Amino acid sequence: MARIGFVGLGNMGAPMARNLAKAGHQVAVFDIVPAALEAASAAGLAPAASAADAARGAEVVVTMLPAGQHVRAAWLGEGGMAAASDPGAVLIDCSTIDVATAREVAAASNREMLDAPVSGGVMGAEAATLAFMVGGTKPGFARAEPILQAMGKKIVHCGEAGAGQAAKLCNNMILAATMLVTCEGFILAERLGLTHQALFDVVSNSSGNSWAMSTYCPVPGPVPGSPANRDYRPGFAAALMAKDLGLAQEAAQGSGANTPLGAQALELYQRFLDAGGGGKDFSGIIELLRKG
Ligand code: NAD
Repeated sequence: MARIGFVGLGNMGAPMARNLAKAGHQVAVFDIVPAALEAASAAGLAPAASAADAARGAEVVVTMLPAGQHVRAAWLGEGGMAAASDPGAVLIDCSTIDVATAREVAAASNREMLDAPVSGGVMGAEAATLAFMVGGTKPGFARAEPILQAMGKKIVHCGEAGAGQAAKLCNNMILAATMLVTCEGFILAERLGLTHQALFDVVSNSSGNSWAMSTYCPVPGPVPGSPANRDYRPGFAAALMAKDLGLAQEAAQGSGANTPLGAQALELYQRFLDAGGGGKDFSGIIELLRKG
């Protein structure tokens, strides 16, 4: 069992850290928000005095932070975790951030560092069923894999540093565009006098099928567990989807990739956020599309 430092105890990080402890690891935790640290401590995790303190002496150090600037500051800033960590430690950033920052922080850390963003949301974090997409060296991946297994069920090595973030951004861009066109399908069906159930029964068994249709159906009824059945309570909040679409467009511009549907998806989600939809599930965008 490993000594692990874990920093960032928000919606995702707190249950992930708890699952590491449940698997028998010794976990020292830190968050800049005192209430988050107190809650983790009450759940039996050892609170550290600072992020650097959580990293010190650990064999594995994990972060789960909001965005690239937090990741850069936590690892490389003054009192940074990279310098405080053991030179032989494996560093794993599970946050969703831009590819360029992931590469920059990994290179500057002077350690074996992996980017390992996740898919599966808060429910996946709690149930330890997250999917991890990992960028970094093969030996680094081999050392990180057993640790990630305590928090997830599917762990894929995608390539060198930044490759995990690249996979995550591509996946979420595909998901957003698929969700949007699935919503449009239902809106067109409504105008043509087709019931939601009839469209679902056909498409979920036809070539138009997708996760957005069969698991996360954006209208109430056909898939009882989908957010549409609880007034679009997330799930996966539209604000997070907009963030990921922004990162995907940044990566597309930086690499010269042509992604017009990704660009359009970002524009539509931005409109949804401007209209107050940021806290709703991302499938709730059907309400904006209906209005036109
Ligand atoms: P969150 O805002 O709930 O948690 C982030 C935590 O980091 C907060 O508790 C904050 O206080 C802490 N923090 C920020 N800066 C810090 C610092 N310098 N030192 C220590 N702690 C610091 O966010 P979340 O929902 O847990 O998401 C975390 C990451 O996972 C994001 O990048 C998000 O895009 C990604 N993600 C989220 C979901 C989801 O469904 N919530 C799904 C997949 C991926």
